[in-house]
Amino acid sequence: MARLVMKFGGTSVADIERIRNVALHVKRETDAGHEVVVVVSAMAGTTNQLINWTREAATIHDAREYDVVVASGEQVTAGLLAITLQGMGIAARSWLGWQLPLNTDEVHGSARITSIEGDDLMDRLSQGQVAVVAGFQGIGPDRRITTLGRGGSDTSAVALAAAVHADRCDIYTDVNGVYTTDPRIVAKARKLDRVSYEEMLEMASLGAKVLQTRSVETAMIHGVQLQVRSSFDEPQSLAPTDMSQVGPGTLVCDEDEIMEQQIVSGIAYSKDEAKVTLIKVADKPGVAANIFGPLADASINVDMIVQNVSDDGTHTDLTFTVPNDDLPRALKVIEAAKDEIAYRDLVGSQDVVKVSVIGVGMRSHAGVAAQMFKALAEKGINIQAITTSEIKVSILIDAAYTELAIRALHTAYGLDGD
Ligand code: ASP
Ligand code: MG
Repeated sequence: MARLVMKFGGTSVADIERIRNVALHVKRETDAGHEVVVVVSAMAGTTNQLINWTREAATIHDAREYDVVVASGEQVTAGLLAITLQGMGIAARSWLGWQLPLNTDEVHGSARITSIEGDDLMDRLSQGQVAVVAGFQGIGPDRRITTLGRGGSDTSAVALAAAVHADRCDIYTDVNGVYTTDPRIVAKARKLDRVSYEEMLEMASLGAKVLQTRSVETAMIHGVQLQVRSSFDEPQSLAPTDMSQVGPGTLVCDEDEIMEQQIVSGIAYSKDEAKVTLIKVADKPGVAANIFGPLADASINVDMIVQNVSDDGTHTDLTFTVPNDDLPRALKVIEAAKDEIAYRDLVGSQDVVKVSVIGVGMRSHAGVAAQMFKALAEKGINIQAITTSEIKVSILIDAAYTELAIRALHTAYGLDGD
């Protein structure tokens, strides 16, 4: 017997028929004798609708009331799934964030979990009751409802898995696992059987939207085994969870648990990048501080930075990237500081994409970046900026070459499947 957390996203609970399908997945595990906590998202589209309503009511609104509104989507699905399970003869009850309680900090709209009381839940589990928990929501120190940021149900599920000492946290979604790259771009993308927390973290933060980044962080910190699988597989065609073997899907786990680690595990891309170039800035001490200080004060996250070598020894061009949404603000901030920075021209552009190759094997293998640059050069793709970390190399290119670049890299690193 095992204890499982099963999480179902918005598309998996989009209507009553799909909720019934979810209930069958749950039944499969309870029939096998497992204890189950189910975490649900709001029905697909509901959270967007709720957010739009708060905006319509007032463009600037009290974040505490925003949370009251947007948390309601998960309340509906938790109740509906509990009703459906009961109708199938399975003992079940719903739990809202405040009832557990799932405690968070006071940052309404993107609260962080501070603690979860798992005792009540574990009591009920041992009595054979399925716990259906509303994801995405908690209760703040002000005793008001909080939400965890978009995609937050993943984090609810992982944190609950840690709190009740679950053997595994299964994330059921509309894809059947984590792929080497976006299968819509590369038909030969392969599903990974296993991927390490660190690689998944990079993939999630680089735009592979399978899991919320924070859920992967939480899983890594608490050592929660995360299995990404499809809720659209026939519920009864999947065998009940056997802890001795990994089922279909992708297991996100510790690096040590991956036998045949590839050097590069995946290629991610992000279109959420905008490029800012300052032309002819003085090449002297303090200039970078004058540029990036005001950006930091404006809470604008700078990602890649390139400073060209100056040809005349006095002036240089400097390029950096910011999230797309922040581009207008970033340009304003730089313009406002024009006198201190002293540059000739300022250019912003959104026609760029960041492509990254990711793999823990890079730590021990040289030449991964060189291989990347060569593959791109062969396709005539110009690299506008580069950043690296221990397990990742990212480049900025013209958005028009996104697909060509990803396909070329997927082949170059031997990731193509049949
Ligand atoms: N319903 C919330 C959202 O759409 C949380 C989640 O689905 O994880 O962001
Ligand atoms: Mg999600």
